[in-house]
Amino acid sequence: MSLYVDKYRPKSLDELDYHHDITNRIRSLARSGDFPHLLFYGPSGAGRKTRIMCTLRELFGQGVEKLEQLKIDQRVFLTPSNRKLDVNIVQSNYHIEITPSDVGQYDRIIIQDILKEIAQTQQIDANAKHKFKVVIINEADQLSRDAQAALRRTMEKYMANLRIILCAQTTSKIISPIRSRCLLMRIPAPQPEQMTIVLNHVAKKERFQIPDDVAQQIGKEATGNLRKALLVLEAMRMQSPNFDMDIQIAKPDWQSYTISVAKDITSDPSPEGLLKVRGKVYELITHCIPPTLILKTLLEVILNMVDDSIRADLIYWAAFYEHRMRQGSKQIFHLEAFIAKTMSIHKGFICGFEDF
Ligand code: ADP
Repeated sequence: MSLYVDKYRPKSLDELDYHHDITNRIRSLARSGDFPHLLFYGPSGAGRKTRIMCTLRELFGQGVEKLEQLKIDQRVFLTPSNRKLDVNIVQSNYHIEITPSDVGQYDRIIIQDILKEIAQTQQIDANAKHKFKVVIINEADQLSRDAQAALRRTMEKYMANLRIILCAQTTSKIISPIRSRCLLMRIPAPQPEQMTIVLNHVAKKERFQIPDDVAQQIGKEATGNLRKALLVLEAMRMQSPNFDMDIQIAKPDWQSYTISVAKDITSDPSPEGLLKVRGKVYELITHCIPPTLILKTLLEVILNMVDDSIRADLIYWAAFYEHRMRQGSKQIFHLEAFIAKTMSIHKGFICGFEDF
């Protein structure tokens, strides 16, 4: 049994339920003979990946069955110091999908080796609509500078044999030579009403009805993340098939835990408090919660707890330390620095001093 998010994921451009202007633009690009490199960006759960797969389908029209015969390969790459890197690669006859950021600082090796290999091989299907292969790079904004430089060189050199589709959350972490070589496609988060349409659509296919107020509440609570909305719908359906229970949309554990950390930061701004918070932050990181997400969530919660006069300052420092996190390799240092700074600003406000 597959989850609604997979079962009802639109497969072609015609099935996409919202952002019709973007869909039309993709359709005309795919039909024109001159398909560019693309960069899809937008928040998680906005439907970037779904749109990319629909674009591929539109591009390789008659050979779609081959697109669906996906192979998942595990490849081993060697670093210059002979360390082995295991990477999962999803591929079909027409495309290959990689997530180089999985191997951290060694992402350049993956980009170089795979792209070179693809670029130097010809399309094996003589009847294919296009002669190029498509390389999808997930989490492109997490790529290191080295990997981005390697990608840029490949894009210039092998344009004849391959097109690159990048999937990212923001363009600000992608170097400008790459941005300027791609057509940018911003996929905004769907509005609550648009999510309600998708939820009703799924409910209809599953042959049940969602009360309007429940659909609206799910749409509102999902904060633009359609994946979250569909998962919540499925969980609620399991708990109460007729939606007649009092609806409580539970927060994920990591979120509740981060909220408790934010409370600790504001309630005990002291060196001992910092030590306690450090342990909790480590706990979150060891459970694979990305440090940037922790920082963002902490800031959002803390902003609601503190006085207006220090909010701008906190936002400034959050941006400052988030930037530093990108530059350095030990993200925990910068996260802790942000927490210490927040404690200092907050305590300064409470005591009427600048710093403590
Ligand atoms: P992202 O890549 O932006 O994180 P996905 O493309 O994985 O998001 O989309 C999340 C879920 O939302 C998918 O599983 C799919 O079921 C649903 N979805 C995305 N776009 C649409 C759409 N246009 N119409 C209906 N459902 C969609």
